[in-house]
Amino acid sequence: MIEFLSWHTSCYIKFFKQVCLVLDQFKCRVCGAKSKLQCHHIKPRAGGGTDKLSNLMTLHEATARKGRKTPNRSSKAE
Ligand SMILES: [Zn+2]
Repeated sequence: MIEFLSWHTSCYIKFFKQVCLVLDQFKCRVCGAKSKLQCHHIKPRAGGGTDKLSNLMTLHEATARKGRKTPNRSSKAE
C-alpha cells in the first residue's frame, strides 16, 4: 500500500510539473530563459509548502541555483 501511494504521488507530481511548464509557457519565470527548465517549489516542502500548482514555478537551472542557497537539499535534482 505504501509502495502504491508513493508511486501514485510521484506520478501526480510529474503531471503537475508538466502543467507548471505549460502554464509558464516553457520559460523561466524569473528571467525568461527557455532551456534547462525545472519545476520548483515556491515554498519548500520542508517549510510546509505543497505540491499543488499554486506552489510550483518554472525556473531554469542557473536561476534555480541562485535562488536556492540551502546546501542540504533532501530531494534529488533529477
Ligand atoms: Zn532563469
